[in-house]
Amino acid sequence: MTKNAAALSNLGAIDAAHHLHPFSDMKKLNAAGTKIINRAEGVHIWDSNGKQYLDAFAGLWCVNVGYGRNSIAEAAYAQMQELPYYNTFFGTTTPPTTLLAQKIASFTGPTLKHVFFTNSGSEASDTWFRMARVYWKALGHETKTMVIARKNAYHGSTVAGASLGGMKWMHEQGNLPIPGIAHINQPYWYAEGGDLSPEEFGLKVAKELEDKILELGEENVAAFVAEPIQGAGGVIVPPSTYWPEIKRIARKYNILLVADEVICGFGRLGTWFGHQYYDFEPDLAPIAKGLSSGYLPIGGVLVSERVAKVMIEELGDFYHGYTYSGHPVSAAAAIENLRIIEEERLVERVRDDVGPYLAQALASLTDHDLVGEAVSVGLMGAVQIAADKSTRRRFAKPDEVGTLVRNQCVSNGVILRATGDRMLFSPPLVISRSEIDQAVDTLRKGLDWLKDNHK
Ligand code: PLP
Repeated sequence: MTKNAAALSNLGAIDAAHHLHPFSDMKKLNAAGTKIINRAEGVHIWDSNGKQYLDAFAGLWCVNVGYGRNSIAEAAYAQMQELPYYNTFFGTTTPPTTLLAQKIASFTGPTLKHVFFTNSGSEASDTWFRMARVYWKALGHETKTMVIARKNAYHGSTVAGASLGGMKWMHEQGNLPIPGIAHINQPYWYAEGGDLSPEEFGLKVAKELEDKILELGEENVAAFVAEPIQGAGGVIVPPSTYWPEIKRIARKYNILLVADEVICGFGRLGTWFGHQYYDFEPDLAPIAKGLSSGYLPIGGVLVSERVAKVMIEELGDFYHGYTYSGHPVSAAAAIENLRIIEEERLVERVRDDVGPYLAQALASLTDHDLVGEAVSVGLMGAVQIAADKSTRRRFAKPDEVGTLVRNQCVSNGVILRATGDRMLFSPPLVISRSEIDQAVDTLRKGLDWLKDNHK
C-alpha cells in the first residue's frame, strides 16, 4: 500500500472520530462508513477506492462549469498572492469584489443592478430578510414585516433561512420558524393537485398568496419568497399559470417579490436566472452556488433599483454584513467562473442543446411502470416514482423507495439525489448527450431493480 493509500484508508476512522456531517444521521453514517471523494474532472468524481462516478448532481447543484478548471484555481492563486483578504465594511473595497458586482449586473434584466455579497445562500436568505424589513421601515411602513414563504421550500440552514424554508422536519429542530413568517402551499401538482388540471392547480395555489395577504393585512406583509423551481423540495416545476398569477398578486398588494436564485441562477434553466425563464423581475434575489461553481464559497443578494434607491438614499447605515462579504479570492474565482460560462456559451448550450436533450431522455422513462411523471427545465429535472401511475398513488414510504433507487444508481456509478420519491438531476452544464444517456439509463436500471425487489 502506498503512503497516500494508507493515509486515505485511515480517513474513514478519523472522520467517524472527529467530523460531524451536515444533514446526516451520524450513528448510521459512522456504521456505514463515509465515502471519501478525493478527485474530480469534468463531470466525474472519484472516491478513495478509485471508483469513478458520473456526478449528475453537480456536487450540491453548484458545479456549473464542471470540475478541474485550472483557470479558476489560477485566478484564486494570483489573487491570494496579491491581496488575500480585505474587508468591504468601512469605506473600502477590493478590485475583484467591485468588478464581480459589475459582471453580475451585466447578466440581469433592467432592474437588478446592485449586489450585496455573502458567503452562502443561507446568509443571503438572512440578508434579504433584513433588507426587506429595513426597506419598508425606511419608507415609514413600520408594520410591513411579515414574510410569506412556501411549504417544502428550502432557503438554507441559518435560523432565518431554515425558518423561511418550509421543511417541517427542520422546523422541529430548534423551535422554528421564528416569528414573522407564514407558509402557503407549494405548486406540487403531482402529489397535491387532486382532480384539478395542472393549470387550475397552479392558479389555486398562487391564489393562496392573495388569501394569506388578506388574512395578515397588506399593511403587515413585507415580501413573498419562492424558488423559481423548488430544488431541494423535489424539483417542483410549477404549472404555467403559477408565476404570472404570483407576479400579479405581489404587485397588486405592494409587497416585495423575492426569487431565490441559489440553484436556478447562473444558467441552470437555460437562462442566466430562473426569474428570466418565468418572465418576471423580482425585487430581491439571493444567489450563491453557480456564482463560483462551488470552487470557493460566495453568495449574495441581487437588489433591484426600487430597493437599492431606498437603501442608498433613505436608510443610512445598514447594520449587516459578514467579515468575508465580497472576499477578494472568492470574487476572483467567481469572475473567472462567469467568464467561462459566458465564453463557452453554457447558458445557450443548456437552452438549445443539452436541456432539451435531457427533457427528451427523461420523457423516455415515462413508459416505465414506476414512473409517474418526468419533468425538467434546462438541466434541472425530476422523475417521480409512483406505486400506481394511473391514479398517481405513491408508495407508502416515499423516502424509502427514493433512497433505494438512489443507492442503486450510486453503486452503478451515477450520483443522483432523491427527495422523497422524486429522483433529481442537476448535472454540470458541460455534461454531454452521451453522459445524459448514461445517467438516465442508470436510473432506468435502478427503477427496474425497485420493481423487482420492492413490493
Ligand atoms: N436557497 C436555495 C434555493 C438552496 O437550494 C440553498 C442550498 O441548497 C440555499 C438557499 C442555501 O444555500 P447554502 O447551502 O449555500 O447556504
